[in-house]
Amino acid sequence: MARILITSALPYINGIKHLGNLAGSMLPADVWARFKRAEGHEVLYICATDEHGTPAELAAAAAGQDVRTYCDEQHLIQKQAGEAFGLSYDWFGRSSNAPNHRLTQHFARVLEQNGFIEERVDRMIYSVDDARFLPDRYVEGTCPHCAYEKARGDQCDNCGRLLDPVELKEPYSAVSGSRNLEVRDTRHLYLLQTKLAEPIRAFIDAKSDWQTLARSIAYKHLDEGLIDRGITRDLKWGVPVVGADGGPRPGLEGKVFYVWFDAPIEYIGATEEWADATGGDWKRWWRLDQGAADVRYVQFMGKDNVAFHTVSFPATILGSGEPWKTVDTLKAFNWLNWYGGKFSTSQGRGVFMDQALELLPADYWRWYLTAYGPEGADAAFTWEQFQSATNKDLADVLGNFVNRIVKFAESRFDGVVPDGGEPGELEARLTADIAAGVAEVTDNLEAMEFRKAAAALRAVWVLGNEYLQEAAPWTALKTDRDRAAVGVRTGLNLVSLFARLSAPFIPFAAERIAASMGETDLSWPSEGEDLLNRLPTGRPVAAAEVLFRKIEDAQVAEWTERFGGAET
Ligand SMILES: [Zn+2]
Repeated sequence: MARILITSALPYINGIKHLGNLAGSMLPADVWARFKRAEGHEVLYICATDEHGTPAELAAAAAGQDVRTYCDEQHLIQKQAGEAFGLSYDWFGRSSNAPNHRLTQHFARVLEQNGFIEERVDRMIYSVDDARFLPDRYVEGTCPHCAYEKARGDQCDNCGRLLDPVELKEPYSAVSGSRNLEVRDTRHLYLLQTKLAEPIRAFIDAKSDWQTLARSIAYKHLDEGLIDRGITRDLKWGVPVVGADGGPRPGLEGKVFYVWFDAPIEYIGATEEWADATGGDWKRWWRLDQGAADVRYVQFMGKDNVAFHTVSFPATILGSGEPWKTVDTLKAFNWLNWYGGKFSTSQGRGVFMDQALELLPADYWRWYLTAYGPEGADAAFTWEQFQSATNKDLADVLGNFVNRIVKFAESRFDGVVPDGGEPGELEARLTADIAAGVAEVTDNLEAMEFRKAAAALRAVWVLGNEYLQEAAPWTALKTDRDRAAVGVRTGLNLVSLFARLSAPFIPFAAERIAASMGETDLSWPSEGEDLLNRLPTGRPVAAAEVLFRKIEDAQVAEWTERFGGAET
């Protein structure tokens, strides 16, 4: 049994997340956490809302709330939406909580002691009309790289490049719209990433087993050359910069740490929150000198977050010189696109988690977003593909199989797992095929190849349908009751197996399928297990209510209309 720490990129606090966010980090992290728990490992899956930074302040202002109240509400909304989607985090924390504040100030202190943080005088955009400096997203303007006209001060949404607000052309204040801006001097803390380039490169070099996407992004940034990065901002909401006495630091009064400095530290902070709430030991997961040496740490994220996790956060950890646990495997995802563009929280484009659950249960979305997700390349969300994945995979292949065999057992075998008869050649062949199929699902999940794992799982479901077709217990029953009993018994064992294999992907349906077999055990099949003879004969079985309803064309039309799917 291994100990596995899993984190997914922290969802930002400015509103409920869309399906692209779900597909590119939280959902695969959850599938993998469930898989590893089912294998019997000790898993700690940590996530949290990322609550600092300018967008939180702007969103709170737009909602007419103070930032704390806004974040309190939004955190709860996101936590509940995640739970409704079956996200099985062990803790869903908040980067605004005390442990993260303490840890962020700790890292800043040791990094400065080690010579990796220094004060610099910075030229920042000052808005005369707003009477304040304008950090990050408080400035908007034209991207110097791609000429996109609504680029934000920290990053261009169109080309994805990170920006410095002073680089923007035609800048204006996002607070007031004023163009009466000046560049003024102000003091800030800088993280000297240039000094850490070599250890960071050595750190990435050692990750030769990572998939290409994560490694290529890391090397792109390393090869372009790391820059020293300002890690403080002129904001009220955030982790305050403090002096040696814990009070305001002279020359840096009124500054807080940049959200991208404190957010990854919240992985540790949230674990401390978990420990405080449950009596667990967070250092056993994070401190190599206090029990974390045998932990495997896996991070899940979209590709836009990779640079922060392969360069910035390692700079923080490595620069501290302290024995913190670092990531062992980083699994990155491409983008799920929405009808020719991107899903966008700020522009309300796409389908959001709460809306999705109003339309259909979580498992429908979980299956589609995992089996057809943006893994090896960007993927395009379409209602038609969602309909097809639901109708063909879930309803026709899995749902129909389960329904057919259980109903038959109910009507012709008194609703129990029948005894009698001996497995024959057909069952021997099925046993071998199933063993190979289960191994393929397992190997692909182990390798975090989610699309391949889902395809392999679907192929196992198909084996069940093919078996029933050949065994045809409804025909056999007319002449050979024992033969029919073998077919039904085998089919019911397949149902039970499908529940176990499907549980990481579609946990709600899997639980119902297992329950219809009188089972609660959703452990992962172990090698050599006699998978088709597990259910005791005489055990009552009962068909579940319809497992998956097909999506009608009229629904697709209605949703396309409602969510504006067809434009562009
Ligand atoms: Zn751009």
